[in-house]
Amino acid sequence: MSEKISYLQWMLRVLKQSVELGGFPEEVYQILSRPERVLIVSIPVRMDNGKIVVFEGYRVQHNSALGPYKGGIRFHPEVDLETDMALALGMTLKNSLNGLPYGGGKGAVKVDYKKLSQGELERLSRGYARAIAPLIGDEIDIPAPDVGTTPQIMAWMVDEFSKIKGYNVPGVFTAKPPELWGNPVRIYSTGFGTALAAKIAAEKYLGGFEGLRVAVHGFGNVGQYAAYFAQKFGAKVIAISDTSGTVYDPNGIDTKLAIEIKEKTGKVINYPKGEKIKDPDASLYVDCEVLMPSAIENVIREDNVNKIKAKVISEGANGPTTPEAEKVLYERGAVIVPDIAANAGGVIMSYLEWVENLQWYWWDEEETLKRLQSIIENNIKRLISKYESLRSEKKTVTMREAAYVLAVERIYKAMKVRGWI
Ligand code: GLU
Repeated sequence: MSEKISYLQWMLRVLKQSVELGGFPEEVYQILSRPERVLIVSIPVRMDNGKIVVFEGYRVQHNSALGPYKGGIRFHPEVDLETDMALALGMTLKNSLNGLPYGGGKGAVKVDYKKLSQGELERLSRGYARAIAPLIGDEIDIPAPDVGTTPQIMAWMVDEFSKIKGYNVPGVFTAKPPELWGNPVRIYSTGFGTALAAKIAAEKYLGGFEGLRVAVHGFGNVGQYAAYFAQKFGAKVIAISDTSGTVYDPNGIDTKLAIEIKEKTGKVINYPKGEKIKDPDASLYVDCEVLMPSAIENVIREDNVNKIKAKVISEGANGPTTPEAEKVLYERGAVIVPDIAANAGGVIMSYLEWVENLQWYWWDEEETLKRLQSIIENNIKRLISKYESLRSEKKTVTMREAAYVLAVERIYKAMKVRGWI
């Protein structure tokens, strides 16, 4: 029985190993293992029943060596400051790995947003934007959505921030609705990238992607479009799930219809065909070649890894696989495209939207998607080749470690020329 460690602890462990593996000075670990700045806020919200509830929120600014802090805002009942710190570190690494001119940050509010009315949600979102306003800006720290937050929430936040400034600041939040300085590609960009990463990895390690059986765990923004694009790229999506349960259909799920049903009813289980299984985690265990865990962290663990059959795993969520489980999967010959590569389509698209906003200039959907696709393809291929070259030197390396080495290398070089180390 191995000791239980937190998400932050395991990220730090991989970071430490990667600093050693890449041959970087220990100081790099000392700096990256802590955030540069942490803000804790209290947000009083008038609820519909007239009472005030005070919500706790955070904004962690992890590292700025490569540029302004960038990363989403999570609304979740179980989020805490330590998890937010881990997620912010993840953004520093993700932004670096993907060649973006950003450092990393992450925000969070401890709230079960599903229990809020629209009005309460708007007041909470505006309250959070006001609370973090002194520390953010389009050249300082640029938040975006994460689990539990949406383009509508970004619209309220950018409106609130602009009111505080007294003029419009479109580039301070990304993934806004297309009606308010957003780009239509952003809504599907993360899932698109997760499916594209799965496709490139499957072509390399399984000899192709077409006709493969794919399972998707989580059917929020990431899972929906990961499933949709996997089908579009020629694979057969046989299982999808959300908290309502799992839909399993070995003949293939119509992902477009499933998204419509989810939008309309809020539950994937209302999909009219296939077998329905109560356990949302059943999608992890079906017999398939490709798995895209796209909900939250810690879903593939030591205690359930033996039930997982996929050979290629593309992490749509942040941190879905624990290190113990990852070890078992690699021993079994599986390969995992890590979160900081597999779900980077979102932040890469955020970057393109931000560039548009700063110039007050727009690309159309086709042009944007072309740019996004070529950045993702280059990044995933570069990662695979780094993984292969490290693997030829040291047998036990994972693609996650290869990704961390590439990410740390860029941050290290920036910190070195800046004179920080
Ligand atoms: N929350 C997303 C992530 O974890 C997107 C961040 C962004 O667009 O800034 O990558």
